[in-house]
Amino acid sequence: MRFALIDNNRVEAQPKQQGVCPNCSQSVIAKCGKQKIWHWAHRSITSCDSWWEPETEWHRTWQSNYPADWQEISLLDEKTGEKHIADVRTVHNLVIEFQHSHIDPQERTSREQFYKNVVWVVDGTRLKRDYPRFLKEWISDGISEVHKTDKSGIFKVWFPEFCFPEAWLKSSVPVIFDFRGDGSMDDSEGLRNTLYCLFPQVGRHARVAEISRKAFISATTNGEWTIRVQNFINDFRKQDQKEHQQTMSRPSNEVIYAWRGIPLLGGSKEYRKRLWASNKAIRKRRR
Ligand SMILES: [Zn+2]
Repeated sequence: MRFALIDNNRVEAQPKQQGVCPNCSQSVIAKCGKQKIWHWAHRSITSCDSWWEPETEWHRTWQSNYPADWQEISLLDEKTGEKHIADVRTVHNLVIEFQHSHIDPQERTSREQFYKNVVWVVDGTRLKRDYPRFLKEWISDGISEVHKTDKSGIFKVWFPEFCFPEAWLKSSVPVIFDFRGDGSMDDSEGLRNTLYCLFPQVGRHARVAEISRKAFISATTNGEWTIRVQNFINDFRKQDQKEHQQTMSRPSNEVIYAWRGIPLLGGSKEYRKRLWASNKAIRKRRR
């Protein structure tokens, strides 16, 4: 944890200090070593929050974009008595969770249900393959079928599973992918500084928005984020309805190759490409 209570003040860890955990009121000690980032740790247990994960520089840098009294907010579900610490909760009741480690989809869902109004910021550099995979799909002719839309910076992605880690695809809230890491990685394409927001999927196609760091931090800070996301999702729904009506009125006798119910423009060739790629992923997992 970044903050503990000393004399009821929230303070950061300093060598040899002791404090009290704001979440469970147990005593915590300052860990100020050379390996890990300075933090507070419980004496007897790893953490009182089962969802807690070790903090990284990336995590702290993100947290620091928001006021200190919005960080590490202990939240209680009064019905179940469940208590968790939100990485950031704004004064507009938006929770921002910074996720470096792997998370299984079940836990992701539980957290979304607990926090309700939440946005994920995911470290897209955790696995070596994550960024190259995204890059390939985003700038060259990958197989995800990334299509521009009428709105600048918003893309339709037919097969997002070839772009982003699978655990995030069925999220019920927006997921922001951050590929910058600690800023030391090669960025000859100049794409790492932008954030990529995967919206919860409402229609047949996933939507991804390119958004600058500054715009994201500003919209989440001033409270506009939630309503803007809702407006976008409403627009996506309308567009999908319109397109659905259009495709329904165009009958054809040709054999249509489809992937997950979506007709493929490239026919059987495209179908085989996708099948091969998805089998490859399965083969890798089995190994
Ligand atoms: Zn605690």
